[in-house]
Amino acid sequence: MLKAAPAHAFNLGEKVEGKHIIILGAGLAGMTAAYELNKLGYTCTILEARERTGGRCWSIRNGSLNTENDKPTATAVFDEGLYFNAGPSRIPHHHQLTLHYCKELGVPIQVYNNVNEGAYYFAEGKGPLSNKKIRVREVHNDIRGYTTEMLSKAMDHGNLDSGLTKEDAEKVLNYLAAEGGLNIDKLYKASARRGYIESPGAGDKPGKIGDPHKLADIIQSGLLDPDFYNVAEYTYELQMTMFQAVGGMDQIAKAFEKKLKPFIRLGAEVTKITNTPNGATIIYKDKLGEHSISGDMCICTLPLPVLSNINNNFSGDVSRAIDYVEYMKTGKIGLQFKRRFWEEDDQIYGGITHTNNDLTQIFYPSYDYLSKKGILIGYYNFNDKAKRTGELSYAEREKLALEKGRLVHPQYDKEFEKSFSVTWHKTKYSMGGWGEYNSETRKTYYPALLKPDGHIYFAGEHLTYLNAWMAGAFESARSVVTALHGRVTEQRIKYPAAGVKG
Ligand SMILES: Cc1cc2nc3c(=O)[nH]c(=O)nc-3n(C[C@H](O)[C@H](O)[C@H](O)COP(=O)(O)OP(=O)(O)OC[C@H]3O[C@@H](n4cnc5c(N)ncnc54)[C@H](O)[C@@H]3O)c2cc1C
Repeated sequence: MLKAAPAHAFNLGEKVEGKHIIILGAGLAGMTAAYELNKLGYTCTILEARERTGGRCWSIRNGSLNTENDKPTATAVFDEGLYFNAGPSRIPHHHQLTLHYCKELGVPIQVYNNVNEGAYYFAEGKGPLSNKKIRVREVHNDIRGYTTEMLSKAMDHGNLDSGLTKEDAEKVLNYLAAEGGLNIDKLYKASARRGYIESPGAGDKPGKIGDPHKLADIIQSGLLDPDFYNVAEYTYELQMTMFQAVGGMDQIAKAFEKKLKPFIRLGAEVTKITNTPNGATIIYKDKLGEHSISGDMCICTLPLPVLSNINNNFSGDVSRAIDYVEYMKTGKIGLQFKRRFWEEDDQIYGGITHTNNDLTQIFYPSYDYLSKKGILIGYYNFNDKAKRTGELSYAEREKLALEKGRLVHPQYDKEFEKSFSVTWHKTKYSMGGWGEYNSETRKTYYPALLKPDGHIYFAGEHLTYLNAWMAGAFESARSVVTALHGRVTEQRIKYPAAGVKG
């Protein structure tokens, strides 16, 4: 009788000895690979160009340094105890491998509030509802109300329910009424769901419900445009419950680092990767100069835009894939305020305000509620908006975040203290947010990187269908460890005298 396997058991069986694996990059993929290979008896050396581990899993706090390719190195000067996550900020509840490593390494997690009906939509433009902050709950409930009313009316005219029995049609009508908050006449009128203009209270204060916005006003103000209707909480990855690591997402990287310290060489920038007949040779440089290191195999987790500029003798297919896979342009700015006005004045506790301007999103912190100060993510943008913002100087980015942000929160003027911005596609050793495949690049280039090129394996979020997620780094690392270990143990069976011990 076999016991049921625990979730994410990763027991690859027999151990080996005397095998040296060189791992390029101490991000989550590289450190996970080393952590699991160590368990199997391998000796690992991790070469990491930065003076810190974690790669994109990075939280900005006082003293954090960022180097963008066209700018001097910037240093964060936030108050002690405050931070924002420049990279990952949320863990979906179904990313079990991410949660598994938090558990195995003892990283405490807390709920991350990704969905907040009390946050705002802010549409710049010429419509009747433009240039004002509107609570998300007003727009959501008005649109839901109007569309369910339309469907109800269409069903009443027999336009939609021809395939349904009378009883089933009745049930759909009841559902529409409940979903949209329709009245007895199947009309959408104001309901408490969209909030009060006077809150209910004691005695003779029943509260006053706000009138719905007109559907035409919502449409003409751009609030039905993709900036807003692509509601984050509907997507599989962003549905609640979501989590974050307590004290910053980089606590996950730090927990790996603690286990792997003797094997990590920080400040070691890889400059050349060579497949040799018996293994791999890596050239790297650090403060002391240039060094060469050889191993039986290598796992390369460097982001492709970085790898593309490193000397190598990879096969043509692999080189093409490295050059042609695109990466997301993305950036964030952290803004420290001396007062948590979004909580005190606006009753916003976590969640996201969406805009159609270059800010795209304002993220409210999901930690230290009700405390004195806090850091908002003043923009988190993508593609062209991130490209435009990334071109600006640090001071200009701050100016933009404040100018646009004060349209939503005029309190910015009085409460702002300091900022720190990161443009990932300009950040040395990352050069992009995450791998962005289209159907063509997924078909043409992706498969070449899933196989080893000689003695070199490739791992990282870019080698999964979990792009932009830490879970991608973990899944990919495990997949490569499985393949590598399979090859080593198979060789041992085939060539017992070839020096593979264990
Ligand atoms: C803005 C942003 C938001 C994100 N949001 C989320 C989220 O909410 N939730 C989530 O789960 N995930 C999120 N992610 C994704 C997550 O951060 C990544 O998928 C994951 O951290 C990638 O890990 P990796 O090991 O594959 O790559 P990396 O972390 O990039 O690791 C590669 C390592 O290689 C090093 N390196 C580069 N060049 C060299 C060189 N020449 N020599 C030696 N070392 C080198 C780098 O310094 C780095 O440490 C986000 C990412 C970004 C950028």
